[in-house]
Amino acid sequence: MIIVMTRGSDREQVNTVVERVKSLGLGAHLSEGEEVTIIGVVGSPLPSELEGTLESLPGVERVVRISKRFKLTGWDFHPQPTFIDVGGVRIGGDEIIMIAGPCSVESEEQTVSTAKSVRAAGARILRGGAYKPRTSPYEFRGLGERGLEILAKAGQETGMPVITEVMSPTDVELIGQYADIYQIGARNCQNYLLLEEVGKTRKPVMIKRGASVSIEEWLLAAEYVMAQGNPDVILCERGLRSFETATRFTLDIGAVAVAKQLSHLPVFVDPSHAAGKRVYVASMSLAGVASGADGLMIEVHPSPDHAMSDAAQQLTFDQFDELVPRMRSVAQAVGRDLAPSGANVHSGAVIA
Ligand code: PEP
Ligand code: MN
Repeated sequence: MIIVMTRGSDREQVNTVVERVKSLGLGAHLSEGEEVTIIGVVGSPLPSELEGTLESLPGVERVVRISKRFKLTGWDFHPQPTFIDVGGVRIGGDEIIMIAGPCSVESEEQTVSTAKSVRAAGARILRGGAYKPRTSPYEFRGLGERGLEILAKAGQETGMPVITEVMSPTDVELIGQYADIYQIGARNCQNYLLLEEVGKTRKPVMIKRGASVSIEEWLLAAEYVMAQGNPDVILCERGLRSFETATRFTLDIGAVAVAKQLSHLPVFVDPSHAAGKRVYVASMSLAGVASGADGLMIEVHPSPDHAMSDAAQQLTFDQFDELVPRMRSVAQAVGRDLAPSGANVHSGAVIA
C-alpha cells in the first residue's frame, strides 16, 4: 500500500502518518520527491479498514493498495531512479560505470597491477573475489581475509572503491570491513538469510541474477535486502542456463529492459561470466552498454591463461584498453557516457 501526500504537506503531517502506520505494527518507507512525498506501507496482512483510517489524516491525498509482489523495488513506492554514491562514484546516473578486475584476488602483485591498468583505461570500481564459490570443492576457493586486505589496498592505491563477493551470513561483518559494495553471487541469489544479513548493513549490495532465476524472483531477492532497510541495491544480469553450450551462459539482454521498466534500481551487465570465452566478451559488453545498463562488470587479469579461476573468460590488459573507447562510443550513441580514461573520484578527492 502507498500513501500519497498532498503537494505542500508539511513534515509534521508526514510524521503523524508514519507514526500511525508504525503504531499499527506496520513498516513505513518514506520516499521524498521534490514535489510529492510517498509513504510505502509494508506488512501483512494489511487490515481492510486501513485505507479509510489513513485517508482521513491531514495532508494525505490518497491511499493506494498495491498488488505487485515487489513493493520496495518497484516504482510505486519510489518514483525516482535510485542513485548510489560509492566513495564519490555515482551509480545510476548518465555515466555508465565500469567495474573491472580479476575474477579472484591471487596475489598483491596481480591485483595491484590489474587495478592500475583498468583504472587507467576508465574503470571506476575494482572487483576481485576473496571468497570464491567453486563448482568443485578441489578448485581454488580464494585467499579469504588476506584477499580482502589485498583488494582494499589495491583500491586505496588506485582511488577505486572495491566490490567483492560474500557467500555466508557469518562473513558479512568481516567483509564489510574491507569492501565498499557487497556482491551476492548468482548461486546465492535466493539465499534469503544472506540477503537479509546484507540488508541490515548500510553498504550497497549487488545481486547477480541466478542462472535459473526469473526476473520477478531476482527483484524479490532485492526486496529481501530492501525490506531490512538497505535501499542501495544494484541488479546484475550475468547469463542464464540454457540449451546453448557455445557460450557459458546465455546473456538475457532483454532482462535489462524489463528490470529497468519494473524497478528504479540500477542494473548492470556482467558479460564475462555469460560469455565464458574471452573472444565473445567485447561484443557482449557493447550489447550491455546499448541495452540501457547502468554499468558493466568485466573480468581482467594480467595473464588470463594462468588465472586460478575463470581463465578462459578474463580479458588481458590490452583487450580491456581497446574495449573501453568502443563502449564509450556506444554509450554516447544511446545518450549516456563513460568515465574518461584514468579519471576517478574516491572519498571526495579527484585523483586523475
Ligand atoms: C564472479 O563474479 O566471479 C562470479 C562467481 O560470478 P557469478 O556469481 O555470476 O557466477
Ligand atoms: Mn569469475
